[in-house]
Amino acid sequence: MGRLCPICQEHLREPVSTDCGHFFCQLCLIQQAIKASDGDILNCSVCRKPWSPNILGAGYSCEDHQKLVGWFCEEKQLFLCSHCRTSPEHRTHHELSIDIAIIHYKERIHRKVRKLRKFLGELCHLPEEKGKLQTLLVDSEKHRLKAVLEKQQTGEQLGSPLQQWLRGLNSISEEVKELHDKISEAETYLNDLITELEKTSKELNITLLKVNSLMGHAGRKKIRKRKMHLLSTCCVPGTVLGAL
Ligand SMILES: [Zn+2]
Ligand SMILES: [Zn+2]
Ligand SMILES: [Zn+2]
Ligand SMILES: [Zn+2]
Repeated sequence: MGRLCPICQEHLREPVSTDCGHFFCQLCLIQQAIKASDGDILNCSVCRKPWSPNILGAGYSCEDHQKLVGWFCEEKQLFLCSHCRTSPEHRTHHELSIDIAIIHYKERIHRKVRKLRKFLGELCHLPEEKGKLQTLLVDSEKHRLKAVLEKQQTGEQLGSPLQQWLRGLNSISEEVKELHDKISEAETYLNDLITELEKTSKELNITLLKVNSLMGHAGRKKIRKRKMHLLSTCCVPGTVLGAL
């Protein structure tokens, strides 16, 4: 049996030792420390002796001020200590405490998932709409064929109307088939994206926030690029995707 973490009472995960020699899961210690203080005095929850934030590893203690971080600057995608937070650079920002920032990101992900689900629902109805359109087109083609045949009977020669008509029908059904393929590709992509976002939201904690500023520039760009692709292939009304 390995040692237990005094905070979560489970086996130690990525253990860190305080200056007094007690072991904790890194994540448990960080979360407890951030909740319990503004980064000034950190006491071991077992023996109450003070410990230094440096033991938490890079990123969790401010290098400039040797203090525990407690805030997340969304603008710069940085963790800040209480000292950094009041510096001229950040004074005008609306900095969130790390706990609140995590809740905020989870909510943002949930909103995005809801929108994606709604869009996915609309996408599923598209084949029906296209089916109706196909019926309409076939009907109008029938009328055209009838007119052509009547003209032919009156002596006007217009090539082979039946062949023309069949060619027209084939290209319509090919277009519809292609559209079906594109829609199912888009559905797969959206389902994957939803699964990925839900997983991220479930696992989101301070460690993940540190390594991966979730809604960061690159992620947004990737989603936007994909949206443009879907828009151009699916002829989906821009308003639906634009709202994402
Ligand atoms: Zn623990
Ligand atoms: Zn201790
Ligand atoms: Zn600082
Ligand atoms: Zn800031």
